[in-house]
Amino acid sequence: MKYGRVFNFSAGPAMMPEPVLEEIRDEMMNYRGSGMCVMEMSHRSKVYQQIIDEAEQDLRDLMGIPDNYKVLFIQGGATLQFSMIPMNLMKNGKAVYIETGAWSKKAIAEAKKVGEVIVGASSKDKNYTYIPDCSNLDIPSDTDYVYICENETIHGVTWNKLPNTKGHVLVSDQSSMFLSRPCNVSDYGLIYAGVQKNVGPAGMVVVIIREDLIRDDLENLPIYLQYKTHADNGSMYNTPNCWAIYCCGKVFKYLKSLGGLKKMEEINKDKAKVFYDFLDQSKMFKGTVVPQDRSLMNIPFVTGSAELDAEVVAATKAAGYDNLKGHKSVGGLRASIYNAMPKEGVVALVDFLKKFEAEHK
Ligand SMILES: *Cc1c(COP(=O)(O)O)cnc(C)c1O
Repeated sequence: MKYGRVFNFSAGPAMMPEPVLEEIRDEMMNYRGSGMCVMEMSHRSKVYQQIIDEAEQDLRDLMGIPDNYKVLFIQGGATLQFSMIPMNLMKNGKAVYIETGAWSKKAIAEAKKVGEVIVGASSKDKNYTYIPDCSNLDIPSDTDYVYICENETIHGVTWNKLPNTKGHVLVSDQSSMFLSRPCNVSDYGLIYAGVQKNVGPAGMVVVIIREDLIRDDLENLPIYLQYKTHADNGSMYNTPNCWAIYCCGKVFKYLKSLGGLKKMEEINKDKAKVFYDFLDQSKMFKGTVVPQDRSLMNIPFVTGSAELDAEVVAATKAAGYDNLKGHKSVGGLRASIYNAMPKEGVVALVDFLKKFEAEHK
């Protein structure tokens, strides 16, 4: 790795593509002849308007977002969406949530403060190590939406087949798998993603919402919490996270140049296979998720001994593989291998773990 950088397996904020960081560096002191850094620029300037317009257009191109969907850049991270979604979409005050891990659990807790939450299915019985069968959910007819977390960052499970919502609106938290594979946007009413996992710097969420779900009868909801405010003002009702939008825009362009989301899926499958193949033959390390629901992005694994886990974390860190400690709520180990993690990083880590295993027999 150049610049003395390490292979960073953090779950987020996480690695960004090196060519993107280099471009940002090159534009740092004087953005394209403007005489200033993007951080110093008025969000109402022509130069900045072009940056945000291009970012939106590149994202639309990448995902093939239909014209009847708005793209919003909102602050408050993915967490604020746990509240904004029920506040804006619960017309009848009722929604079905699927509980598949820590992040859907958090979303459920917030939605309960707004209306009635029906947990349509849960994988709690097996510690969130699989995606429950959602082909025939019991969904009341006045349900406003069905909610999933499409990739559970902490538990490492991913939806490979969307739930059968029986015609109801589907809402998805794509934070830790955004832009990692093709996505048919019209299958959803609302998609959102905190960008610090798979795209850019922290502090912003991208919301893709079907226009007919944006309501104008919510005058009593604080103005910043209404999707309408952000939609009507091109994500600039107030000062947006200018820097994050600029950096994300660069990542969108970079993913386009690599060949788009189909190509990203190929790359990500190939990369994750290296790690899962290793886990499946190892006698020391074990993956915690059932094979068919394994995430391509976040790979939790364990040795079965907390002391040995800690030893692995220390040894890998010393060797230049950082942030392999599992989330504090589940322990063990976790390798997050988002779009920006090069395959060579995964191969090198696997080689290191193989050696570690051989030396600790
Ligand atoms: C990280 C994460 C969140 C929370 O993101 P913040 O930007 O920190 O609010 C929500 N959902 C998922 C799936 C995440 O990985």
